[in-house]
Amino acid sequence: MKRCDECHDEAHLLRLGQPGYPYQRDYGPMWVCVPCQAWCGCHPGTENALGRLADAPLRKAKQAAHAAFDPLWQRKMVRDKVKQGQARRAGYAWLAQQMGLTKKETHIGYFDLDQCKRVVEICTNLKRKEVGQAPKAP
Ligand SMILES: [Zn+2]
Repeated sequence: MKRCDECHDEAHLLRLGQPGYPYQRDYGPMWVCVPCQAWCGCHPGTENALGRLADAPLRKAKQAAHAAFDPLWQRKMVRDKVKQGQARRAGYAWLAQQMGLTKKETHIGYFDLDQCKRVVEICTNLKRKEVGQAPKAP
């Protein structure tokens, strides 16, 4: 039993083809709150939610947070020649520090709207700083 993170009513585990399943394609079982149009996928092969149920504004905010944050650790993979998992962990450790959270609390999947906005701010500021420090092109 899982509750909707928006309205705190009961969420339902739905599979492709069941009424209320949010996609035409199969993304595995999903926890859905139909009235809120909020949902969340599961860890592969389980019924454990990946994070909190997200409605449309939060889904958008999470996408924006990932778009700002993921390139930072992906760049580290190339630059420091480390594996994806290690680079992502290092990225989240850095993000935790920036946000004043513990590492355990720091997952974009668990963030609310304000926290997602903070991620975008932090990552955008970092990029701006780096551009400012970079030597000018000849
Ligand atoms: Zn709801």
